[in-house]
Order: sequence, then structure tokens, then C-alpha cells
Amino acid sequence: MPLATAERALLVERRHLTRDEALAVARLPLDELPSLVALAHKVRLEWCGPEVELESLINAKSGACPEDCAFCSQSVRFSTGVDVYPFLDLDEIVEAARATRAAGATQFCIVVAVRGPEERLLRRVIDAVDAVHAETGLEVACSLGLLTAEQAQRLAAAGVRRYNHNLEACRELFPTVCTTHSYDDRVETARIAKDAGMELCCGGILGMGETLEQRVDFAFELAELEPCEVPINLLDPRPGTPMDGRPTLSPREALQAIALYRLILPGAWLRLAGGRERVLGELQAMGLLAGANALIVGNYLTTTGRAAEDDHALLEALGMPVAEGPGEGRFIVDADGGHARPARRSIPVTST
Ligand code: SF4
Repeated sequence: MPLATAERALLVERRHLTRDEALAVARLPLDELPSLVALAHKVRLEWCGPEVELESLINAKSGACPEDCAFCSQSVRFSTGVDVYPFLDLDEIVEAARATRAAGATQFCIVVAVRGPEERLLRRVIDAVDAVHAETGLEVACSLGLLTAEQAQRLAAAGVRRYNHNLEACRELFPTVCTTHSYDDRVETARIAKDAGMELCCGGILGMGETLEQRVDFAFELAELEPCEVPINLLDPRPGTPMDGRPTLSPREALQAIALYRLILPGAWLRLAGGRERVLGELQAMGLLAGANALIVGNYLTTTGRAAEDDHALLEALGMPVAEGPGEGRFIVDADGGHARPARRSIPVTST
């Protein structure tokens, strides 16, 4: 019954789910997972189409971050043995962007481990954005921590298309994850990025001790910000962090979460990010059949991903074309009640 209600809402009435409707779906036993996954896939195809968007990241400044996010091996407060280096040279960043292009990804995200960018760093990032645009033509996203409105406007003016700023956890759980900045600080930067004209990429990490209800609430909190893209990281506990030794989600719990997020965020790019290899294991393909329609290819910030050609082979096997560019996710239902479908182009799947 909860699945039938959700299906009617999303595919017939063309509306978003209420919290009660989503919770009713979330409370179904995991034995009903195949039906939930099937519905999430239908919703993804109907709202977003078959394309999968690929992005690569560069950790352009690693470690020594003053913040205390409990999942993060880049915090200076934990002994994790992570690489520590200052902002990379322009050449190294452009080289990584070329590799991104060669790997068939269309978006390149420059990430730095800081609370927020100071002036010198921001200037260097903007120089890097210019160089990547000039040398590769890739769309550039940035993830630089907390921003002021003025900083966001400068990034937007430099042509940064999308800004990543994850909320990481739901409001209720956030104070147990981070104490050096607040959940509201993060929400404010998400809004600042949007107000400056950048698309918002905003997600978090699942499996940090949240209840099923909190997991659903988190999806609704993200939905309030109307993000174009929602990265779903699955906690892969890092040695030396306070989360070290935590049990990971089971593959079935992770698939349930991905499918629920598709139902609650029907028009967003839902990107499988860090932890997918470890948590989903043999069921990685199922992630793309459970509503996800974007991947990070190559390595993550501090962990190694699988080879890009493996992901291309996976997409080919699934019959899912690679999106030609980071099309705009569409969150809002059209005024006439029809669902909004993003204008996306696709390119043939290639094994690089
Ligand atoms: S998640 Fe970001 S802000 Fe938090 S410690 Fe890691 S690098 Fe710093």
C-alpha cells in the first residue's frame, strides 16, 4: 500500500511525497526491497531519463583542516596519516582535468580541505578554474567550505557552474558529527551559493548512526534547499577518526536509502559517491537501478575508487548512456502540474 501510494503520487499525480508517505515506505520490511528498487528506477526514468552523469574530483589541498568533522580523515585533530599538502600547482590541476576528460567525465570538481577559503586560496582557485576551462572545456564545480556572499559571487563570475556544500547529516544528528561549525552555517552557505547563481550540489553521508526516520528527515531537509545534485556518500569509517570501527550500512540498507532518496528527491542528480565500493560491494550495479543517476569516477578525496573503465563497462552493461554534460537537475514540479524533465544530451557509452 505505501508503495502504491508513492507510485501514484510521483507518476500519476506528479507531486512530491509527504513525510508521512515517505516514512511509510521506509518502514516496509527489507524483504520488499525489490519492489521499492523497481519503483525508484521507474521514478528516475520518468523524472530524469536514462542518462548517468560522471564527475571527477581533485583534492587540490589536502589535510590539516581545523574543523572536527568526525568522519573526516583530513581534520588536523585526528591522527589519520592522510596526505597533507598545500594547494596544488596549476599544472597538476590542469593535468587532472585532462585525465577527467579522457575518463569520459564532463564535470571536474576542485575540492580543498578548509573551513572556508581565505583570499589567497580563493584567487588560486579562480586561476585554476580559468585554466581548466581554457585547457579542457570541462564544466567546473568547486567545494571550498563555508563561503561569504562576496566569495560566492566571485566564483560564479569566474564561471563555476556548481558549488558543492554537503549538509553531511540531518539537523538532529549534526552536533554529534561536528562542533566547530553548525548545521545552520552549512545551510547558509548552500543558500549563498544558490543566490550567487551557482547550481547547488548538496548531500551527505549515510550510516553515521542516524535512525531510519532521521535518514528520511535528512532527505527532506536537503529537498528544502532544492539542490540540483545530491551526492550520497556511504560511511566508510576512516582509521584514526572518531568513526573508526563503526559498522557500515549493509548493502540492502544502502540500496533502501538510495531508493528512498530518489522518491523524495525525484528530479535531482543523485550521485553515488564515497563508500559505494565498500558498502555496496557486489551490488554496485543495483545502486544505479535503485534511483542513482550520477557517479564519481576515479578516486575520492582520501580513498581510492575503481577504474573509470570499469564504470563505463558497468553503464554499457546496464544500457545507461553517459550524459554529455551536467544537465540541470529539476526539483520543482511544473506549474501546470506536469513533471519537469531536465534537458539533457547524451553521448554513446565508450570504454576508455
Ligand atoms: S569535512 Fe571538510 S570541513 Fe570537515 S574536517 Fe573534513 S575537510 Fe574540514
